[in-house]
Amino acid sequence: MDCLFCKIIAGEIPSNKVYEDERVLAFYDIDPKAPVHFLVIPKKHIASASEITAQNSGEVAYIFEVIAKLAKELGLESGYRVVTNVGEDAGQTVKHMHFHVLGKRLLSWPPG
Ligand code: 5GP
Ligand code: ZN
Repeated sequence: MDCLFCKIIAGEIPSNKVYEDERVLAFYDIDPKAPVHFLVIPKKHIASASEITAQNSGEVAYIFEVIAKLAKELGLESGYRVVTNVGEDAGQTVKHMHFHVLGKRLLSWPPG
């Protein structure tokens, strides 16, 4: 499958890993938008959050468990943002669902 993040999971493209287990991979974004900016992805290919179903929603719940753990480990207690872009209008550029985790700066709301 021609998917950039599946290639990162397979190790065909290198990444700076934050955390990995049998279900998820977390790695630093190549073009960070905050002092801490990493992505958390399921190892199962899911194209975007619009493809979440009763069959795969456990992966999403697990991703949020991992995010909570990593945020504590990385010292993001003062606040952080979790974002997933869905589809063209939201600016999704990689069609493998990913959750951005941004921290260590003040984040404005609403986003642009
Ligand atoms: P999206 O725009 O789809 O929400 O997020 C895709 C993210 O993947 C972007 O923030 C982009 O910087 C990041 N990205 C794209 N290609 C690579 C890559 O090869 N390695 C890493 N670590 N991040 C990437
Ligand atoms: Zn993929």
